[in-house]
Order: sequence, then C-alpha cells, then structure tokens
Amino acid sequence: MSVDTIVDASTGTLLTGARLFDGTSGELLTGHAIEIDREGTIVALGEEADVVRAAAPDARRIDLGGRVLSPGLINMHVHFGLALPGTAGDLVSGGSDGDLLLVMADSARRTLLAGVTTVRLVGESRYLDFALRRGVRAGAVDGPRIFTAGHALCCTGGHGWESDALEGDGPDDFRRLTRLQIREGADLIKVCVSGGIAGEHEQIDTPQLFDDEMAAVIQVAHDWGRKVTAHVGPSSTLDRAIRLGLDCVEHGYELTRETTDLMAEHGVWYVPTITVSRCADFFDEQGVPAWMKERALGAGPRHWESLENAIASGVKIAMGTDMPPAAGFDGTTATVREMEFMVDAGMSPLDVMRSATSRAAELIGDESFGTIRVGARADFVAMADDPTSDVSALRGIDWVMKDGRVYRDDQEATR
Ligand SMILES: [Zn+2]
Repeated sequence: MSVDTIVDASTGTLLTGARLFDGTSGELLTGHAIEIDREGTIVALGEEADVVRAAAPDARRIDLGGRVLSPGLINMHVHFGLALPGTAGDLVSGGSDGDLLLVMADSARRTLLAGVTTVRLVGESRYLDFALRRGVRAGAVDGPRIFTAGHALCCTGGHGWESDALEGDGPDDFRRLTRLQIREGADLIKVCVSGGIAGEHEQIDTPQLFDDEMAAVIQVAHDWGRKVTAHVGPSSTLDRAIRLGLDCVEHGYELTRETTDLMAEHGVWYVPTITVSRCADFFDEQGVPAWMKERALGAGPRHWESLENAIASGVKIAMGTDMPPAAGFDGTTATVREMEFMVDAGMSPLDVMRSATSRAAELIGDESFGTIRVGARADFVAMADDPTSDVSALRGIDWVMKDGRVYRDDQEATR
C-alpha cells in the first residue's frame, strides 16, 4: 500500500489482458479491452483486437497480465473525521479546523489506495467535508469520489451529539437543520433516530425522534431531491421511520424478521456495518472506554441476526464499514473484512461484490460509476483472483485507478 505514483493521463489509456467483473454479471469477461479517454471516461469496451485497432494512436497501454478487474469499491458508511469517545478521538476533536482537515485528507488518501474509489460520508464536522470534496474534485487531494451528508442530525443529547451531530427538537428545528445541510451542499441527509454504541448516557434501543421530527426531515429532504438515511438500533423505532418514508438504514442492530420484511416491502436499503460490533482490536487502538467496547461487542450476536434477517427478507444491501475503510482488520482492511463477514452471514460472493459496486451506486443515485461499461467513469481495482467466487481475493488488490489515473501499482517495479 506504499506505492503512490500518479501517472498523468494526458493521453487516453488502453487496459488489456484483464478478466472483467462488470459490477453486475456473474460471468467474467475475457479477451476484452477498455479504452479510457483523457477525461477518465470509458469510451470503448469490446474484443481486445477491435478496441486496440480503433484506439487513439498515442494511447498509453496497460497490460493487466490476466488479473481480475472490478469497478472500484464503494464504501457507504464512512467518517473521515471519526472521533470515537477515547484517546484517539479526543486528539481528532480537540484539533483546529486545519488539523482536522489534514486528518480527513490523510484518511481519504488511504481509503483510495485501499481500492475504495467512492465513499458516502454519513456525519462529519465543521463542514470540512465540503472543503475536502472540493479539494478532491480539483485534484489537490488524493481521495475517493465523495458523497456527503454534512453533519448528522439528532435530538438534544441524542446519538452523536458529542461527535458534532447537530441537535434539534421539534419539527421546526429538524426542517431548519435539514435545509442547512442542503444549503452547505449535502448530497443526502443522515439522522440519528435511536441510541447507539458510542453514547454512554443512552442505550442502543433508546427511541429518540418523534414521528413529527422524522417526518420533517424526510419531507424536506425528499422535496429537495435528497435521500434520508437513519442511524437506528431497534425495530420499534425503525418501523415508524419506514412508514414515514425513510430510504436507508445504518447498522440496524436489533432488526426483527417482521421489520426486515417491512424494509423489503418498502424498498428500504440496509447498510449493516457489521464490523462495528466485532472490531475489538480497533477499539483498543482507539483507546475507547470499557463501557463502549463492551456495548459494541455485546451487540454483536443480535447485529448478526439482523443481517441474516435482512438477507432472508431480500432487503437491498449496500456495503459500508463505519470503521475507516483502510483501517487494519484481521490482516486486511475493514472494507474487505466487512465483505467477508457479509458472505459468512449468507450472501453470495457475487451479491457482496454488487453491494460494493453497482448496487451502492444505485443507492447513491448516480450510476456513472459502479459498473464497467461505455460512458462510466474509469474507477477500477485489480487483483490476481476472482472476488465473485471468493471475496477474500480482494485482499490481493494491488492496482487502483480512479477517473483514469493510476494511484496504486504494487507491481510497477517488476514490470
Ligand atoms: Zn457511523
């Protein structure tokens, strides 16, 4: 993960010699080539000889030597400025805006090098996520494509208030807070409707928002064309939110089969973040207090059952970690470990790969990435083995491209 070479894509690029997972199909395409223009868009995909013959004569050619090429991964639950209770979090939240932005930029760069080419941020601080998004777009910072909720919203003393969720009470407050995020540039709205792991004064199943408050958030967001995702633990709170039009559920620590059936019926998405109830070493590294670690790991069995219920109900699932995407976990990254857990819980490797590519793009509502097809952005990861038959193949990601630029190439020195 140390290679940081940036090849200037001043001309077009030809990718040859890869087996392609296109983001949806279970059949890997072989003998095909991809042409990418200088702006980072896929402009040709077809039989290798045809694409090479028709390509711009000055196109740079990259031979992937039989490796598997997949759309870059999309992580749907990320906090670049993550500040959990405890020593590591205190350092982050105690810093100046400049300090925090550097922490976020560093996390963004590591995320991209880990093969995550798009993220959905679901709760940041001080509106620095918008500055970071501008920096990445302008090419000043190496990072994934960013979709962000701005600040998360909660009730007074509600989940996340210590980590800069904005507090409100009553529907007027929630209308104003939602509009404020949209004014700043939010792509979606994140609202905490119940307690969670990281608040000492609450329980995972503490109901926190009243119906009129949830309805206010959802109606304003939908009027302005934004989806609403909710931090939620218990089924009782979630059932109310679903009937009010909620789009997506984060964590869902205590979902019954009745609730996951209701989610499927209403087309509500699920981002399980299953790693957060089983990442003991990460909590130790972060120096979180004993009560939090205990609560997180204690939620593990019920959280797992929630994921199994969602799979059994046929709920639409997208991959997200809550942990920093590139953070170490069992010898790989949190992102890859999350995907392995999803398979262990009952999803097929192919469905898990879709949940981190084409399906995640569908939830974001922007399908210019997440699949390999003409017209899509050139965001890719490459690895030796086929992740649609075993997602642990992602442990071998050794090449990352975003918008047609190579950001990581572990084998460059040996070519
Ligand atoms: Zn989170």
